[in-house]
Amino acid sequence: MSPPLTASSTPSITPTDWRDWRWQHNHAARSLDDIEALFPQRFALADLRASLAGLDLEYSLRATPYYLDLARRARDDDPLWALAVPSPREARLTPDERHDPIGDELPQHRPVPAITRRYVDRALLYPTSLCSVHCRHCFRKRLVGRTDAMPQPGDLDRAIAWIESEHALREVILTGGDPLTLGDARLGELLERLDGIDHLRALRIHTRMPVVNPFRVTSTLAEIFASLRKPLTLVTHFNHAREVTPEARAAVTNLRRADVDVLNQSVLLAGINDGVENQRTLLWALSDARVRPYALHHADLVPGTSHLRTTIATGQHLMRELRGTLPGHLIPRYLLDVPGGHGKIPAEPAWLVEHEGEYTAEAPDGTLSPYPASPPPGDG
Ligand code: SF4
Repeated sequence: MSPPLTASSTPSITPTDWRDWRWQHNHAARSLDDIEALFPQRFALADLRASLAGLDLEYSLRATPYYLDLARRARDDDPLWALAVPSPREARLTPDERHDPIGDELPQHRPVPAITRRYVDRALLYPTSLCSVHCRHCFRKRLVGRTDAMPQPGDLDRAIAWIESEHALREVILTGGDPLTLGDARLGELLERLDGIDHLRALRIHTRMPVVNPFRVTSTLAEIFASLRKPLTLVTHFNHAREVTPEARAAVTNLRRADVDVLNQSVLLAGINDGVENQRTLLWALSDARVRPYALHHADLVPGTSHLRTTIATGQHLMRELRGTLPGHLIPRYLLDVPGGHGKIPAEPAWLVEHEGEYTAEAPDGTLSPYPASPPPGDG
C-alpha cells in the first residue's frame, strides 16, 4: 500500500507521472484531505466534510486523480463525483439489501477459493480484491480494497488446477477487484496459464481501468493480450458519457489493435444515467469509441445504495424509449441478477405477449399488432 497523499507531495504532478498508471493507482485519494491536496481550492468540501463527520461508513473512499479530475463539482448531482466519493446517504440501510447481493460466496458456488461458478460453462476467477477506484455502487464492495479478501498463497494455483479438471468449462472470467490492477508479470503469467488449458475456448476480463485509469493499457499490456491464442473479451464499465474521454478512447484503440473485443456493461443508477437522453448520449459515445454496449444491469441490492437504485419500471421505460430511437446494436440488454446466486435474467419489457394462442406484438411506436402463434394448417 502506498502512503496517503500529502499536500507537499502534490503541487508538482508532472505529465509523465499523470500518464503513469501506477502513479495514478498509488496516488489515489483515500480521504477528502487527499482530494484537497490533489486539487487545492478546486472543490468546496466543507459541507460534505460536515455531513460525513460522525458517520461510520464501512466502504472507504478511493479514487484516482485522473477520475476525480473529471468531476466538475463536489456534489451528488455531479454524476462522476457521485460515482466515486462517499455520500452521507450511504448511511441509510434498507431491509432488502444484502451483504452478498448476487450470491458470489454461497458455498454451492465456491468449489475452491478464488472461484465462483454459477453456470456449467463459465467460472469467475478473482485474482485480486484491489481496484483503482471504489465505485460507490459496487456489488462487491464488501471485498473491494480489503487485503484480507485477497487470494491466499496457493489459492490461484488451486483455482487453476480446478479449472484444468473441469472439462465442461468453456470460458474463465477474471474479475475482482479489478484484474488490471495486477502488474504485467503476474497478469501475463495468469493469462498464459489459462490460455494453455485446452477445453477453454475463451477468456474474459471484467475491468473498470479503461474508465478510471486508462493509462493502464500500455503497449506492454497490449502485447500480452495480443500473444494469447484464445479470443479475449474485455468488458469494461462506462456509466456516463463524460467518462468516455480521449484517454479512455486511446485505451480502447490499443485494446482493439491487440485483437481484444471490447464490450461495455453499465449499471442503471438514479441521477447518473437513468434519463433517456443521458443513455442515448452514453451509447453514442461508446459507439464513437468503438465499444459495444452489452449490458445495462439493474442495480443490485447493495447495502447503502438505495439513493442510487431505480425501480425496475424506470429501467423498462428507458428500454422502451431506446428501442426504435437507436440502432439495435447500440442497445444493451437490461439484466437483473436474481438475488441468492441464481444468475442473470433479462429484465426488459415484454414486446410480445401471448394470450389464448395469439400473440400481440408491440412496436417501438406503440402500435399493437396481432401475430400468429403458429402457421395455418396445410392443405394436406
Ligand atoms: S472497479 Fe468494479 S469491482 Fe472495483 S469498485 Fe468499481 S465496480 Fe467494484
